[in-house]
Amino acid sequence: MAVFMTLNRIGGPLEAEDRPIPSPGPGQVLVKVRACGVCRTDLHVVDGDLPGPRVHVVPGHEIVGDIVQAGAGVSLAPGTRVGVPWLGQTCGHCVYCQAAAENLCDAPKFTGYDIDGGYAEYAVADANYCFELPAALDDLHAAPLLCAGLIGYRSLRMAGEGRRVGLFGFGAAAHLIAQVAVWQGREVYAFTRDEDVAARSLALRLGARWAGSSSEPAPVPLDAAILFAPVGALVPQALQSVRKGGVVVCAGIHMSDIPAFPYRWLWGERVIRSVANLTRQDAREFLALAVTANVVPEVEAFPLASANLALSRLRRGEITGAAVLVP
Ligand SMILES: [Zn+2]
Ligand SMILES: [Zn+2]
Repeated sequence: MAVFMTLNRIGGPLEAEDRPIPSPGPGQVLVKVRACGVCRTDLHVVDGDLPGPRVHVVPGHEIVGDIVQAGAGVSLAPGTRVGVPWLGQTCGHCVYCQAAAENLCDAPKFTGYDIDGGYAEYAVADANYCFELPAALDDLHAAPLLCAGLIGYRSLRMAGEGRRVGLFGFGAAAHLIAQVAVWQGREVYAFTRDEDVAARSLALRLGARWAGSSSEPAPVPLDAAILFAPVGALVPQALQSVRKGGVVVCAGIHMSDIPAFPYRWLWGERVIRSVANLTRQDAREFLALAVTANVVPEVEAFPLASANLALSRLRRGEITGAAVLVP
């Protein structure tokens, strides 16, 4: 038997359930969880914000664990330490999968949403969507890379090559991608909630050129802005902070409504775009880059049994960096 923190009712809280340890089917692995990051998406899962809300699911899609059993046809050997991200499975034959855009697959399965995730002692995953983790990354510090890092990385790529990058919302994803951007020689401008002094000082410590409240205007015209905060009202604001031709990337899976704004704020070939999910190629690239660029997450660890506490602290903006559950 093992413990699975399960969402049985939209709105939560998660309930600790004792259940038999599952067996991996063909192509699957059974992973003994060593750490699992807590992502804002987990709050959206708990709150039923995502399409077709799910219940009786175990959240968690930043899983670090050891393979303890491999199903038929799996080449990864027991004992291998792997990461299991949000993209749990894709169909392999829709137009998006065929076009190397599996992040947009028409029939995907997501870890911690369609498939039980890592808020547990054990998880079963499709071996083709797991990644061997570089030895340089310990469990606690590898976990946040698996979504916050990956989505942040994809967002930074979509933001283009511009030098001046604004990050709106300086939590798990932003604090990782700020390190990559600084390493790439870019200037980072961090925008946080008014009261979030801790996030601003973290941003400056990580090499941001400027950190301020998101109610302030940007100190210089930005080449791009990435929104990690799930606040639609920040979209027009970010748009006003970017220069002509600049890009605003919305990185979250869910956001409050975007208020109307004058067309001239978009005029000048400014672009607003979203970033959805990840591809396995993103994961391979980013995990290697994280080692090269020495990306070090700021981590707060919680015991698995305190998953609800970690979620409520994240909801209240009380996590600096990333929260990670440890069974
Ligand atoms: Zn597909
Ligand atoms: Zn996530």
